[in-house]
Amino acid sequence: MREARIRKTKTVCTYCGVGCAFDVWTKDRHILKVEPQMEAPVNQISTCVKGKFGWDFVNSPDRLTKPLVRKGDRFVEVSWDEALDVIERRIKDIQAQHGYDAVAFISSSKATNEENYLMQKLARAVMHTNNIDNCSRYCQSPATEALRRTMGLGGDTGSIKDLELADLVLIVGANPAEAHPVLSTRLRRAQKKRGQKHIVADVRRNIMATRADLFIQPRQGTDLVWLSAVTKYIIDQGRHDEAFLRDRVNGFDEYVKSLEKFTLDYASEVCGLRKEEIIRVAEMIMEAERVAVCWAMGVTQHRGGSDTSTAICNLLLVTGNVARPGTGAYPLRGHNNVQGAGDMGCAPPFLPGYERVDNEAQRRKWEKLWGVELPTTPGLNNHQMVDAIHEGKLKAMYLCGEDMAVVDSNANYVEDAFRKLEFFVVQDVFLSKTAQFADVVLPAAPSLEKEGTFTNTERRIQRLYRVLDPLGDSKPDWEIIQMVANRFGANWHYSSPREIFEEMASAADLFRGASYDRLEGYQSLQWPVLPDGTDTPLLYTDGFAFPDKKARLYPVDWTPPIEVGEEYDLELNNGRLLEHFHEGNMTSRVPGIHEKVPETFVEISPELAKERGVTDGALVRLVSPYGSIKVRVTVTDRVSGKHVYVPLLSHADEEAVNRLTSSDHDTVTYTPAYKEMRVRMEVI
Ligand code: SF4
Repeated sequence: MREARIRKTKTVCTYCGVGCAFDVWTKDRHILKVEPQMEAPVNQISTCVKGKFGWDFVNSPDRLTKPLVRKGDRFVEVSWDEALDVIERRIKDIQAQHGYDAVAFISSSKATNEENYLMQKLARAVMHTNNIDNCSRYCQSPATEALRRTMGLGGDTGSIKDLELADLVLIVGANPAEAHPVLSTRLRRAQKKRGQKHIVADVRRNIMATRADLFIQPRQGTDLVWLSAVTKYIIDQGRHDEAFLRDRVNGFDEYVKSLEKFTLDYASEVCGLRKEEIIRVAEMIMEAERVAVCWAMGVTQHRGGSDTSTAICNLLLVTGNVARPGTGAYPLRGHNNVQGAGDMGCAPPFLPGYERVDNEAQRRKWEKLWGVELPTTPGLNNHQMVDAIHEGKLKAMYLCGEDMAVVDSNANYVEDAFRKLEFFVVQDVFLSKTAQFADVVLPAAPSLEKEGTFTNTERRIQRLYRVLDPLGDSKPDWEIIQMVANRFGANWHYSSPREIFEEMASAADLFRGASYDRLEGYQSLQWPVLPDGTDTPLLYTDGFAFPDKKARLYPVDWTPPIEVGEEYDLELNNGRLLEHFHEGNMTSRVPGIHEKVPETFVEISPELAKERGVTDGALVRLVSPYGSIKVRVTVTDRVSGKHVYVPLLSHADEEAVNRLTSSDHDTVTYTPAYKEMRVRMEVI
């Protein structure tokens, strides 16, 4: 009998955008322990509960180990060849009948850079469509848009280290203590050791709020207003950074005019804040030498998500808090590789490195590399794809590693769209809720079973190595994508992720000097990477990414929250839990984690509980105009008044929070307005 061998292999966590790296000790398929190393650039000696204990799902009996093909209302296991036959036949038929753009692709922000690169290459170079997107559409696209509008590039402007160096960190609509735990540990350390100050602005008294020096609770969806009032107040006091604005920023005078309406009185009334609170925020910013702002879905998942993110960038520019150590803009990426999926071109208008499909010179470069003519107009994003299915324009979808039926907004509408698809391929680790709608399900390997690179929230590219062999007949996504592409005549011969990465870096200017050798072991690179391998931890020290090197102040206005009718009297909020990743497809299959948090719940305030006669643990039904869910009550002062909170976690259909959310979206990027919904509560 073969003796089990103990191995130690470096990997990168797949549970959030912080990008913790660590060694995983294994004996055969048993995960013995996770051991962070001092060389790890982000986490060094720590991980959070998910990073440390969240891996036993790789041996779950629920893992997909064979391709599945639908026969009537059930799936049957088939060989890879049989599954690929079906995909080839059905997609060729649909494209012959309805054109190339009748097919769409959604890539995965959990997959590697190499896999995302191949997915968009499959869509564009093989299937001749720019209908390709990824789940950054659900989260940080508005922040990326704001950064591009004002500074030129869509990435965080500095590093997590800069967040530690800041004298003041303003945290808006984010809860790093649960969603980005190691980052929050580093902020906590800076608070204790250096006296770093924290302002938290959130509708919910989250863990960060309990540790903050100042906590403000604006009304849901009003962040743009108080942020603009703070900026106006600073300018009115003459405390803006005149030299920075003169030398490095365009559009100051026009921007000042746009702020006229954002008086303290107006902001106080709209946001439900006291004027003193708004002034105190401004004073703390004026008093600090180095200010950084973190924000997340509480800002972006509104109809005005791009504009509120822009208001944050404007505030930073007006106060000169960009392009210096300890300052900057930090939209915190949720998935481990949401940054990388966009970087690799998994978005309708962008080729790898944010080069555009409608820029002839840039497109021609990729056509030359790939030896094909590429489609020239941007395709559909995730949101538009769902509408296009309902309209009968989109007939087939190929989706990789995203449980869209649970995590997209207005889940009932999304499910109806899936039922209307003529052909649906899902590539995933488990038979997710979404996969249950598919015609073909392809068994993919999770991160521990493959090599590649991830890019974290601070634009840091890191390598992961294969800890375990793929289970059964499952395969890394890049191998599956290559097999599919070759069925359509691609003739690809990649033998490893290294080859894929080299091809990408040979053409994408942002990554010219990045290579597997420079990323060996615990080494990492933050893009842009110059041809000589020099990387860029802090952006814009030599000027902003516009032709004249100057940033642009960008006037924005407030979009009031959606009105849905008086009977829906409670404000619904949603978000992540410390223990679980998103809907829980992976973490719920880790016994220790599942036992700790086995079901979702709704947080309601003590005053609401009293008013409705509801006690802790009671079952209630939440109802919106779009659907209803049944959840158990947790009475807590984390929420107040008529504000209720439901985590994303959902094991059962009837507890998925997105049965309540609408198809409303950010007007610029189409990110769903998940945080703008009202519900009513019925006691069961
Ligand atoms: Fe993983 Fe994020 Fe936790 Fe780090 S902080 S261990 S990346 S979930």
